[in-house]
Parts: sequence; structure tokens; C-alpha cells
Amino acid sequence: MAKEAFRPVDTWVFDLDNTLYPPEAGLFAQMNPRINGFIRTTLGISEDEAAVLRKSYWQQYGTTLSGLMAEHGVEPLAYLDEVHDIDLSTLTPAPDLHTALNALPGRKIVFTNGTREHAKRVTRARGIDGAFDAIYGVEDADFVPKPKEAAFARVFELAGVLPRTAAMFEDSAHNLQVPHAWGMRTVLVGPPEDGPHIHHQTEDLAGFLSQLA
Ligand SMILES: [Mg+2]
Repeated sequence: MAKEAFRPVDTWVFDLDNTLYPPEAGLFAQMNPRINGFIRTTLGISEDEAAVLRKSYWQQYGTTLSGLMAEHGVEPLAYLDEVHDIDLSTLTPAPDLHTALNALPGRKIVFTNGTREHAKRVTRARGIDGAFDAIYGVEDADFVPKPKEAAFARVFELAGVLPRTAAMFEDSAHNLQVPHAWGMRTVLVGPPEDGPHIHHQTEDLAGFLSQLA
């Protein structure tokens, strides 16, 4: 059973977006046009040009931000503050998740490709901010995003995470590859996907966690 597999775990690492709230909250739908808008105004280009550029940076650099930093010297926090300046009223409090997090033995950490500030706002809106011992954002990884190994290496060093006694929860299966390779227990939060790097899968994070305490 799942509980047995998690017995060695004393550090619980959670992605934020679409992991600690459901995708139906639609936050990415709000962020997407803000990314395009930032590219348009910062580089002074058209909507169509911005869309093309964004796609090519995604492919070449892994994120739009990495491309903007490398090719245009964009200041990362200016970009991230603009992208994360969204309405969080679609997020609802999650008392069941709060209870389940609090019942887990050990440290609980958020590790997001967004900023710390974004993670604070989101966890507050969900009523779960008190459950976490620390929050790490992409600024803590020198703006290198998951799934890159360097992102995990930097944040895990800062946080003192020992992979063999840690678990990673993510809605993005890609982001479980490095944690799995390093010996973490991995949980895909979302619809089932195949892959040797996915140990467990759930679409009900609170329900899943409540079985582990
Ligand atoms: Mg996510």
C-alpha cells in the first residue's frame, strides 16, 4: 500500500500551480495573455511575432523567461511580477488539504517555477499557507526552472532536502524525472500517465495524503 512506500519520507516537496489547486481554477488562462503582453510591450513587437518568439523560446530554452533573459537581457522579476499579477478569486479554501498536510510527519516545502510571492498568495488563498515550513521559488534556483536538474540541485541544497527520504508531488510528469532518478518517491497529481518515473498518481491530493498520515 501507499502508506508503506512513504514510511521513510520525512520531507514532502510540493509543486504549486495545478498541484496545490485544481487546474479548473484557470490561473494559467490568466497568465498566458499576460506573458504575450509582456513580450509585446517589452520588445515592441506585434501579437503574432510575440507568439512565434514565445514558442521558439519554449523549445530552445525550456521556458519563455529563459529565452527572454538570454536573448534580451530581460530582468526576471519584472517579467514574473507582471505574469503573476492575476486575480485569485477562483481559488477556494481547501480545509481538507490543510488537515491532510498538517497530519504528515516531517517538513513540508513548496517548490514552484513561479515566484515565492506568487506561492504565498496562492497558498494563502487556499488557506494552506500555515501548513508549509518553507517556500522556494524560481528565484531561489537562479531562475533555472524545473525540470532542469540544476533547479532541483540548487533548491534541494538550500532546503537541505535528502532525496532518499523525500517525496515530490507534481502535476507535470516531466518534473518528476529528476526526483525519481535521485531516489525520491514521486506522485503525479493529475490524470494517469505512463512512465517509470511515476510511482503514484492521484487526482485527489487531500484524499491521497490523508491515507499516509
Ligand atoms: Mg505545476
